[in-house]
Amino acid sequence: MSLFFFQPVFAVGLCLFAFMLGACVGSLTNCLCGRSRDNKSFWGRSFCPVCLHKLGPLDLIPVFSFIFLRAKCRYCHSKLSFRYLFSELLFGAVFVSILLRFGISAYTLELWILFSLLIAAAIMDIDTFEVPDTLPVAAAILFVLFAAFSEDRLSILVRSLLNALIFGGSILILSLIFDKVYKKDTIGGADIKLIAVLALFFDWKQTLFLIIIACLVGILFAYFAKIGPQKAFPFIPTLVLAAYITLMVSEPFLNWYAGLFGLGEH
Ligand SMILES: [Zn+2]
Repeated sequence: MSLFFFQPVFAVGLCLFAFMLGACVGSLTNCLCGRSRDNKSFWGRSFCPVCLHKLGPLDLIPVFSFIFLRAKCRYCHSKLSFRYLFSELLFGAVFVSILLRFGISAYTLELWILFSLLIAAAIMDIDTFEVPDTLPVAAAILFVLFAAFSEDRLSILVRSLLNALIFGGSILILSLIFDKVYKKDTIGGADIKLIAVLALFFDWKQTLFLIIIACLVGILFAYFAKIGPQKAFPFIPTLVLAAYITLMVSEPFLNWYAGLFGLGEH
């Protein structure tokens, strides 16, 4: 149900709730990604990375704690990384924008979980150039679970699986050819797996749109960050950004594009 059906005060309240929920998930995701990077246990309370003091509830309120503590640890006053604030704001903004675009629906919940997994994959790719298979596998399970509850589940599952196989397979073949031609690893295995998983959630036109956007963003990023062709850079964040852009604008764009050729609605 679209938020426009609600009283403005209630709609703003829902957005605030989505933002705080997103910020909490962002805080947790950032923490778990850091522990995975440092080979630490996922369990146990959060602590300051410098003085190792356990953090209390007041230190863990997303966004607000960071601002009120002026980006410093309450106990040892060492500077906190802006990455905490950034990931909380990013998740909050993504959750709110998905709620505004798709309203209160099971699809919104599915997308909140999907983008939490995707951003986690992007953080891990930036940190370590490695993304554990658990993330794309979890995203694939998420898709199957939600598809299983839809009315035409069989056709959705078959169509999506075919889309994933075609796009995942094509990129895999391309990467094998590129590897042979350039005599080095070109497209990472994690990138191919993620493209296949994203193809589950989008139809073939949207998946093509996503790949084109990812390539354009990747080229622009490499150009502005002055990254030469010999240097590897994490591609998963680019794919995740392209997936977000596809989710938000591909439908109106593809409809407009089809309209140019009189092909009707996407
Ligand atoms: Zn400290």
